[in-house]
Amino acid sequence: MVDLTRRFDVLVIGGGNAALCAAISARRAGASVLVLEGAPKFYRGGNTRHTRNMRCAHDAATEILTGPYTEEEFWKDLLLVTGGQTDEELARFMIHESKDILNWIVEQGVRWQPSLGGTLSLGRTNSFFLGGGRAMLNALYRTAEELGVDVLYDAEVIDLKIEDGMFLSAALKQPVGGKTEVRASTLVAAAGGFEANIEWLKQYWGEAADNFLIRGTPYNRGAILKMLLAKGVQEIGDPTQCHAVAIDARAPKFDGGIITRHDSVVFGIVVNKHAERFYDEGEDIWPKRYAIWGRLVAAQPDQIAYIIFDSTVVTSFMPTLFPPIAGATIAELAGKLELDAGALEKTITEFNAAVQPGTFDHTILDDCATQGITPPKTHWARKIDTPPYLAYPVRPGITFTYLGTRVNREARMLMKDGKPSANMFAAGEIMAGNVLGKGYAAGMGMTIGSVFGRVAGREAAKNARN
Ligand SMILES: Cc1cc2nc3c(=O)[nH]c(=O)nc-3n(C[C@H](O)[C@H](O)[C@H](O)COP(=O)(O)OP(=O)(O)OC[C@H]3O[C@@H](n4cnc5c(N)ncnc54)[C@H](O)[C@@H]3O)c2cc1C
Repeated sequence: MVDLTRRFDVLVIGGGNAALCAAISARRAGASVLVLEGAPKFYRGGNTRHTRNMRCAHDAATEILTGPYTEEEFWKDLLLVTGGQTDEELARFMIHESKDILNWIVEQGVRWQPSLGGTLSLGRTNSFFLGGGRAMLNALYRTAEELGVDVLYDAEVIDLKIEDGMFLSAALKQPVGGKTEVRASTLVAAAGGFEANIEWLKQYWGEAADNFLIRGTPYNRGAILKMLLAKGVQEIGDPTQCHAVAIDARAPKFDGGIITRHDSVVFGIVVNKHAERFYDEGEDIWPKRYAIWGRLVAAQPDQIAYIIFDSTVVTSFMPTLFPPIAGATIAELAGKLELDAGALEKTITEFNAAVQPGTFDHTILDDCATQGITPPKTHWARKIDTPPYLAYPVRPGITFTYLGTRVNREARMLMKDGKPSANMFAAGEIMAGNVLGKGYAAGMGMTIGSVFGRVAGREAAKNARN
């Protein structure tokens, strides 16, 4: 039984990677720590439950990483995917700190495994959690509890008392016990983005947001973010920017997870409901491009698209939960997808005619390209001509939003007047926009949460002691 009448040194709101890294780090620095996880115990861990890997800089190959990934290369990748929309000081700080995280996270009980292959191409840059995100979380929770961190589940924070940039207390709502005031000397907000709040998404996306599927937890509704911004914390990031991928249109509204994501785009073409192609499917290697396809589909009529390929490539990518829809002819496939058969035949015939000879290799930017069609397919273009013809219907799958709270290198929130908050810190998705103005490179969500979670916990503990 957690004694909620006492005053804690550090209150952590959230129960995912960022929250647990902060809680462990604060506790190791000598603070008393309370973690409030809004979800029930079974669903603890937010979006972190669904993760597989983390991107960290390292100077040499390790037991599980096939080669070096220097700080400079990480920085260049980040610059590329964000188009320069990143806070250079914070980003470089995060990249530098990520080197140490590879070992630190192991010290907290997490285990790595050799990289998954296939289309992921991440063996050199990303470390994979043995047993995935859930096993990773289980290890972090066990460590936190062994260290004496108090954890409450079904513990939704519904209000924050903040005066002049200083956190005073949080109002907690529990199914049994009702509303309770929790006091702490410092706050670490690690409560995710607002991706599960469809009404909030609609403010920027309009009715289209009704057709979005949310890949992760339904509990990240952004209430904490909203309260912090309303109480004077400076915001960062464009509210329309988010990590969004193409996921199977048959996936559930929430929590479909990784098995609904389609990685087959580079092996075929993608058409909209008018059976027309709309973007270069071979623009760059998949880990640098998969995260743009959610937004691309979101911009199509009715937010639906179809990945079309043929039987020669079915074993080339990771299968998903959903089987492809098959047709012996293009017309039969079109019928099953409720697309205009003539239009789909025309698109595929024109595409096939535009494919130039080349040597196919999905691990590099190969020379298989189209000529004379718009949009082009600049790599991995091969004819779609071997039945059965196959398709996956896809919709925008929102992973997490980038609008967040501005922080400094201590993970301390900055107020609207530019001054650092007296005692409020943030980590993870809720401040991801400091590093990710737009775009994404696989594995960075966990880097942001681990690095800033660890820093936030340490700084919050120091703050509480003073
Ligand atoms: C399907 C999927 C796969 C992914 N794969 C990867 C991957 O392999 N690598 C990678 O780097 N990233 C991946 N990501 C992104 C990654 O999950 C996130 O970037 C990361 O987990 C964020 O951690 P976090 O702790 O900030 O948020 P979360 O893990 O989402 O935790 C937020 C927590 O806040 C709690 N909460 C929310 N509101 C309240 C409230 N009012 N009161 C109390 N608690 C509240 C939630 O219940 C939740 O526990 C993936 C995401 C998804 C959805």
